[in-house]
Amino acid sequence: MASDKQREEKQLALEKIAAEIAECDDCRYLPNQRPVPGEGDPEAEIMLIGEAPGSKENETGRPFVGAAGKFLEEMLNSIGLERSDVFIANVIKFQPPNNRDPLPEEIARQKPFLDAQIVVIEPKMIVFLGRHALQAVLPSIKQSISELHGQLLVIDHQHYLPLYHPAAALYNGSMRQTLLDDFGRLPEYMESVYASSLISGPISGLISGD
Ligand code: URA
Repeated sequence: MASDKQREEKQLALEKIAAEIAECDDCRYLPNQRPVPGEGDPEAEIMLIGEAPGSKENETGRPFVGAAGKFLEEMLNSIGLERSDVFIANVIKFQPPNNRDPLPEEIARQKPFLDAQIVVIEPKMIVFLGRHALQAVLPSIKQSISELHGQLLVIDHQHYLPLYHPAAALYNGSMRQTLLDDFGRLPEYMESVYASSLISGPISGLISGD
């Protein structure tokens, strides 16, 4: 169990990263655009990573607060979790113009902030919300999100769960069920995280799938 002091140190480290994001003029697309650094439990075991903020997120400075965020909360609630139990962040910290896909140079500039957040939080499980998060964090993975969604990846002792982006469910009913089913496997996968912490030696590759 981590001490209050450790929690406070993590919180301060995350605030420092958020301050650096806010000062990153190279990262924003428009003057006065709002940074969306991410939020949640500094000691979260589960970290969720999306693509980039949309309009609602830009208005509020908070990740996943629009329609996709509503569905994300529903998925969290379906396994007994609240937003405050996890940490939610994006690869890109500012809303891209017209919600276009992030450009490779934008990812290269902004991903170090995400990397720093991961180092501070030390999540046991990283959940990718969509292909951009998967590709940005694990560029060596060549399979697509449609091949990997819902399957547990273990690479260099870190556990990852790739999922379709929750926004995909807003336009497609069967995708909604797929996402709920994939997300529903998280508790079982967390059991394997706890079990693997008892095993020594490197574990790598895909250890569980359909
Ligand atoms: N989509 C994302 O990828 N991130 C958000 O914060 C909101 C919508």
